[in-house]
Amino acid sequence: MCGVFGAWSPSGRKVLEDVYLGLYALQHRGQESAGVAWINREGGISSRKGMGLVHLALDQATLAAEQTSCAIGHVRYSTAGGSEISNAQPLTASTSRASLAVAHNGNITNALGIKLLLQNRGAIFHSGTDTEVILHLMAHQPHKEPIDALIDSLVRLRGAWSLAMLVGQNLVAARDPWGFRPLVIGKRDDVYYVSSETCALNLVGASVVREVAPGEVVTFGPDGMDCLPLPVEVKRHFACSFEYVYFARPDSVIDGRSVYQVRKTLGKKLALRSPCPEADLVTGMPDSGTIASLGYAEESAAPYEQTVVRNRYVGRTFIEPTRRVRELGVRIKLNPITEVLTGRKVVVVDDSIVRGTTCQRMISMIRDCGASQVHVRISSPPVRFPCYYGIDTPSRGELAAARMNLTQLGTEVGADSLAYLTEEDLVESIGLPRECICTACFSGNYMEGGEENEPEL
Ligand code: SF4
Repeated sequence: MCGVFGAWSPSGRKVLEDVYLGLYALQHRGQESAGVAWINREGGISSRKGMGLVHLALDQATLAAEQTSCAIGHVRYSTAGGSEISNAQPLTASTSRASLAVAHNGNITNALGIKLLLQNRGAIFHSGTDTEVILHLMAHQPHKEPIDALIDSLVRLRGAWSLAMLVGQNLVAARDPWGFRPLVIGKRDDVYYVSSETCALNLVGASVVREVAPGEVVTFGPDGMDCLPLPVEVKRHFACSFEYVYFARPDSVIDGRSVYQVRKTLGKKLALRSPCPEADLVTGMPDSGTIASLGYAEESAAPYEQTVVRNRYVGRTFIEPTRRVRELGVRIKLNPITEVLTGRKVVVVDDSIVRGTTCQRMISMIRDCGASQVHVRISSPPVRFPCYYGIDTPSRGELAAARMNLTQLGTEVGADSLAYLTEEDLVESIGLPRECICTACFSGNYMEGGEENEPEL
């Protein structure tokens, strides 16, 4: 997970407040820490980082006053390295040729191998992140121009990396050759932006220019904007299908596809594939299943109803985990509407089942309110394999769909029936060619040689 954002103004406009706002819009991609880095008046790099949500980690007023026309930012959800301030990004470094800062979304699958090689040559690592290898690889090429050193470093990486970087006086956006995670360029007046998602461009009033292409490095700096292809040949792309299913904000557009529309289509296809003619109403798991449930209801005879209300302030306030609070469990967050549920046959739509516990609790809560039947429909195929590309899934043994068959899992979560979307329907709903989409957590078809490729340094 994680979100990255960057801004550059050739006319010297202040951009750091926009980066703060961009991170605010990308908060759903990571809540553990937030940070910004910018080119300061002396031409070096300054940074601020903190733990928690953007508004707790960073001070908007201080950043708004900062005179900088080139900056990046990051919100973090840890997939490599623990949740601590030393792993918060952007990571910064100074080499003999340039000051550097990097904000990364994704997971570099051969980072450990690279790290061991560099450590054997005396490199000292300061964080537990996979991202730090990029800075060390660049520092190990002091004879090269910084952008050339960056390109030479990036071609050695495997896995997922959408980057916003500061390299000397340049803002740099780069995307791995497989295109796992989204990265888009926007523009407002003379200011260029790079962002994990278009929803953050909307917030700062920028329009979408285009996606950063898989395997492309885009630089913005004193010499203007330049686009450089990475000299890496790949057999196919791996755009993450889970971004459409769950992870991206529904008001974002990825690869020209509205996440909202894709999610609704998933629900419609699910209704056609696995109807539930006896149902009185269709509802969604708040908030992950809401849009797919609207699509499901549209294709079925039963209407959509909101059956559970989420306390919007959970997550922003801290409740002491006392025994009483633990007993209340999911009710702290979600409260069902008994009057809508009593005596009704209900279809509950959710985006996925990972460990199965959330689904189980939701079904038991709905039954406690008097629902006579609860049928579960999932708007993606069963998650049977872990993700190595930047989404935090548990190990295979903890994945409910890897441990149990459909009938066992239905019984485990307490459903009267359980059905999933097929992989074929998922790919069709996204609308990209099959060979461009990653479905590894559903199918186990990982990127060829992705984990075991040893780097040559
Ligand atoms: S394995 Fe799943 S979550 Fe990970 S990149 Fe592929 S589709 Fe996305």
